[in-house]
Amino acid sequence: MDQDPLTPLFSPLTTLRGVGPTVGALIAKVAGGERVIDLLFHLPESYVDRRQRPTIAEARPGQIVTLAVEVVRLEPPANERQPWRVVVTDGTGFAELVFFKFNRERQMPQGAKLLVSGKIELFGGRRTMPHPEHVVPADRPQLLPLVEPVWKLTGGLWPRQVASAIVQALARLPSFPEWHDAALLRREKWPGFADALRALQAPSAVPGGANRCRLAYDELLADQVALAVVRGRLRARPGRGLSGDDSLRAKALSRFGYTLTGSQTQALAEIDADLAADRRMLRLLQGDVGSGKTMVALLAMLRAVEAGGQAAMMAPTEVLAKQHHRTLSRLSPEPVAILTGGVKGRARAQLLRGLKDGAVRMVVGTHALFQESVEYRDLALAVIDEQHRFGVDQRLLLGGKGELTDVLVMTATPIPRTLLLTQWGEMDVSRLTEKPPGRQPVRTSLHSLGTLPDLLDAVARKLDEGAQVYWVCPLVAESEALDLAAAEERFATLRELFGEVVGLAHGRQDAVVRDATLAAFAAGGCRLLVATTVVEVGVDVPQATVMVIEHAERFGLAQLHQLRGRVGRGAAASFCLLLHEEWVNDAARRRLSLLRDTDDGFLIADEDFRLRGGGDILGTKQSGLPGFRLADPIEHEGLLHMANRDAAVLLGNDPKLASERGRAVRVLLRLFEKAAAMRTLAAG
Ligand code: ADP
Ligand code: MG
Repeated sequence: MDQDPLTPLFSPLTTLRGVGPTVGALIAKVAGGERVIDLLFHLPESYVDRRQRPTIAEARPGQIVTLAVEVVRLEPPANERQPWRVVVTDGTGFAELVFFKFNRERQMPQGAKLLVSGKIELFGGRRTMPHPEHVVPADRPQLLPLVEPVWKLTGGLWPRQVASAIVQALARLPSFPEWHDAALLRREKWPGFADALRALQAPSAVPGGANRCRLAYDELLADQVALAVVRGRLRARPGRGLSGDDSLRAKALSRFGYTLTGSQTQALAEIDADLAADRRMLRLLQGDVGSGKTMVALLAMLRAVEAGGQAAMMAPTEVLAKQHHRTLSRLSPEPVAILTGGVKGRARAQLLRGLKDGAVRMVVGTHALFQESVEYRDLALAVIDEQHRFGVDQRLLLGGKGELTDVLVMTATPIPRTLLLTQWGEMDVSRLTEKPPGRQPVRTSLHSLGTLPDLLDAVARKLDEGAQVYWVCPLVAESEALDLAAAEERFATLRELFGEVVGLAHGRQDAVVRDATLAAFAAGGCRLLVATTVVEVGVDVPQATVMVIEHAERFGLAQLHQLRGRVGRGAAASFCLLLHEEWVNDAARRRLSLLRDTDDGFLIADEDFRLRGGGDILGTKQSGLPGFRLADPIEHEGLLHMANRDAAVLLGNDPKLASERGRAVRVLLRLFEKAAAMRTLAAG
């Protein structure tokens, strides 16, 4: 049997000549993977152009040039600290090649004709080229790379090592079938995949933008087709129709006492249609904090119970699970159980029995809900709250307690459209754009840390009026110890000013202490809560009307918006004070001003995405779309939307990818390792 032509690309780097374990490990470190393909996808950040060929007289300081010269003489250093100087000429003037480490006497004897390339500098009136990057005999110009890629490197790894590994890696590229639409390629004037890769990685000229776009589009299309394939499979898999008589829902609504907002009604209708259809639901319910997702989720869960099944809601933390449990228990006519790591012994055993024999029909909990030991008699609906940190595969697993389980994911993080297309591409989306009535917008203002004394006066007045205050301090992993110290110091000063009513909560505390403080804040005994971002996704205290955020410039916009959502939950006027460093750059000021001027979470998310890249939304520092190596979310946003449509049309015409282009696209999927999609296609 022929060897699979892709195998050499997925082999370890060390299968390349000249790449041993040491160099292999260094390349793997910068390329993010230890296979040949990882190196091929480690694209240069820029290029050095050595095609400038001035005479010595014409060469301008600061310029990178290639000179054709003849060696006039060698000047050895007078002492240890002096460099070697090689005086050269081309007839128009003289230049000195300067070497602090020199072992090239034999390569450049007097009279030798050379091509030298490097940066020209002016030193004491003389033209010098300190440490030329290339010195080759004039009669062997092919040894001098005229255009040199600049890869991201690491200590101990040299460009020529990468370059030589790349040349071999490129030689392993098989001849690929073209997976893109011919008309598209003509229109965009894109080269083929392998040609684009060669043009970028082993360039003979500074590569044009089309090469990079072509590869970005390859990656984006692979992603979009893969998501569409998985999505199509999930949809096609028979689910079951869940319908109900509204008996439980009607009771819940009457206990609730409010009418649903237009957004809630709309979202519920979309969910009901999914539930009623005999295919599986995979829906994302997006809405700001306070937009009323919980009620929508409860009504969906009750529908599952009305239909005779079970429903489970998973929260990311124990605090949130308990909070949901309280809310749901208050409104639900059907008893709601709770399962967290803290439920142990007989209580746990009894609950697990109830889930297995169906006596328990509604349950809230942490990820404990989906552990292997937990069996359900008939889990019809799984609601997953705030799981924006999960990837596609993880979400599929969570729904896996039953092949037929409908899945509703709720998130308060307004996800920018671009990210929705990629990271959540397998889901349908409902958005709660409208807030329940009676809310007042939170008045947001910016303050420099220098004005802290005035600000403290204002906070004192608010406390006197009976308000409760959140005081949020930043906490990031890289500076955790410092940040915690700062938070504790702030707590100490505030406690000195305001006394016992000041509490402190952060993630490094003993959970018992922290939960007690949060409970005291909820009960009103604690009136000013100094907290790191632990409050970000938890605690619902409608009486809290003031939020102070220190070093707001260090937070992402979406995160600030979410924090701000913690206040303004009751009818009283609420305030959000963003404290920033006295000196903040324009970009930071723009971001904070945007937050001051709008309350639209979706707008903020799209803007944040544009300003900082997508990484932040996922709680990581790195920017860019997670999992993308060739495409850049901001630069290639247009291409992403194009790929999204392209994938839909392709699969619409050729769902099994059986046509000539379809088969080529299968190669693309393998190249970008879309395993789930490949499995799905193989399963027919
Ligand atoms: P989310 O989960 O989206 O953050 P919640 O479901 O916790 O929001 O709702 C926030 C608050 O708004 C709760 O106190 C809830 O009772 C209330 N609420 C939800 N829907 C409505 C509505 N249609 N009318 C009035 N109040 C509502
Ligand atoms: Mg919520």
